[in-house]
Amino acid sequence: MLKGRLAYHGNIVPITVDEGRWVDASGAEVPPDEARILPPAIPSKIVCVGRNYARHAEELGNPVPERPLLFLKPPSAVTTHESPIRLPPDSRRVEYEGEIAVVIGKTCRRLSDEENPMAAVAGFTALNDITARDLQRLDVQFTRGKSFDTFCPFGPWIEEDADWRDLTVETHLNGELKQRGSAKDMIFPIPDLIRYIARIMTLYPGDLIATGTPEGVGPVKEGDRVAVTVSGVTLANPVEGE
Ligand code: ZN
Repeated sequence: MLKGRLAYHGNIVPITVDEGRWVDASGAEVPPDEARILPPAIPSKIVCVGRNYARHAEELGNPVPERPLLFLKPPSAVTTHESPIRLPPDSRRVEYEGEIAVVIGKTCRRLSDEENPMAAVAGFTALNDITARDLQRLDVQFTRGKSFDTFCPFGPWIEEDADWRDLTVETHLNGELKQRGSAKDMIFPIPDLIRYIARIMTLYPGDLIATGTPEGVGPVKEGDRVAVTVSGVTLANPVEGE
């Protein structure tokens, strides 16, 4: 089942996507020309995983990490499907990173060995971990390079029924396939990531885990269009100057 959120006649309306039709809680169809797609969740934080695919670590000349490499993106970086990614004047090299995002559905903290981390998951969606690569390399911390406004497009829908093992991610730049990855190829699989992160911080409903990008990252420029598809959910964004 695909779930999302729309701005519709001054209200925020949760919807189900049923064979391409947008259906509200009463079962009524919402006409696309009268509604605007909102991000499908409101994260209190976006927890990102660096170098979670061996060949991506290799392409940037980094070793494969021994434990998950975590960093955060601020909620202020969130934007949604078809909204522009804005290139900040501070950077000369902004890159796409197509990723599988986990959407948390239940508060979780310090899971016991018996608890299944996947029980805390609402579903999965597409996320583009936009990165000012030059600033990321210049600073010790990732914060500046990863945190500009509009650097966290995700959505437009949450896929609630997928098995994490079947998830795939593809990134197209101006229609050309640039990245292809599978959750099976992650160094740290999704359940292990949730368990690891929940040992550090409480995960709340709506929080996102961006699970890392496969190889094939590259720059975007003004006028480009970048699309990330995670198991049938496609997030597309134009790239614009500030
Ligand atoms: Zn990333």
